[in-house]
Amino acid sequence: MSRPVVQTRNLSKAYVMGDQTVHALRGVDLTINEGEFVAVMGPSGSGKSTFMNLIGCLDRPSDGEIELDGKPVARMNDNQLADVRNKYIGFVFQNFNLLPRTSALKNVELPLMYAGVKDRVGQAKAALEKVGLGQRMDHKPSELSGGQQQRVAIARAIVTNPVMILGDEPTGNLDSRTSEEIMAVFQDLNRHGKTVIIVTHEEEIAHHCNRIIRFRDGRVQKDERVENPTDAREALKKLPDPDAVLA
Ligand code: ADP
Ligand code: MG
Repeated sequence: MSRPVVQTRNLSKAYVMGDQTVHALRGVDLTINEGEFVAVMGPSGSGKSTFMNLIGCLDRPSDGEIELDGKPVARMNDNQLADVRNKYIGFVFQNFNLLPRTSALKNVELPLMYAGVKDRVGQAKAALEKVGLGQRMDHKPSELSGGQQQRVAIARAIVTNPVMILGDEPTGNLDSRTSEEIMAVFQDLNRHGKTVIIVTHEEEIAHHCNRIIRFRDGRVQKDERVENPTDAREALKKLPDPDAVLA
C-alpha cells in the first residue's frame, strides 16, 4: 500500500481585493500517493498555481484541510510552514530562479545551508550528478543553457531529499527537445520513488506523467490515469539532435 503524500479535503482559497472576492479554489478533494507522477492541467485562471502554492506550503487556504505526509498544515504559522517546506518539498520554477552570480554547485548547496548541514559539497555534487550535470558544477547560470539551468534547479530541489518535487510549468520556457530532456530527468527521479507534481499547459508533456488532474473554475474537472505514458528517453531517440545536424 502506498501512503498518501498529499491529501486535501474541501480545499478552498478566496482572494479578497477591495470589495471583490476571487474564489480561486472551490473545494478540492484530492489524494496523491507516494511515487505518483502527476500533471496538473487546466485553463489559465483555473486555480493550478493556487493549488500548488497551498500544497507547497507557500500560502494558507481560506477553508479546508491539507495533510502532507499525514501532517495537517492548513493552520500552521509561517515558521511552521517554512519548516515543512524545507523538509518535505523541493520546488522547480518556470524561470529556474537560480542565483545569477553563483556557481551551479553553490546554488545547489543553498537549501543544505538553510537546513544547517555542514558537509554540503558532497551532497550537492551527488545531486548535480543525478541530473547529468556533473561536468558543469563551476559554471554560473549565465554560462549554462536553459535546459542546464533547469537541471541545476532540479538538483537544488532534490538535494535535501524531500518527499515530493513541485514544478509550476517547469518546461514552460524550454524548446521541445529540452523539455523532453527535463521530463527524462523527472521520470528518472520518479522511477527511483520520488513523488513529482507538475503544472503544464501541454498535453504532450502531461502524457509523460502517470496521472492528469484537470482543474476548471477552481474545481477538479477530471482526474485520470495515463495508460501508456511517453518514455522521454525513447522520445528523445526519435527527435533530431541539433548538435548532430551542426556537426
Ligand atoms: P492558474 O495557475 O490556473 O492560471 P491561479 O491559481 O494563478 O490560476 O489563479 C486562480 C484565480 O485566482 C485567478 O482568477 C487569479 O486571478 C486569482 N488569483 C491568483 N492569485 C491571486 C492573488 N495573489 N490575489 C488575487 N487574486 C489571485
Ligand atoms: Mg499558474
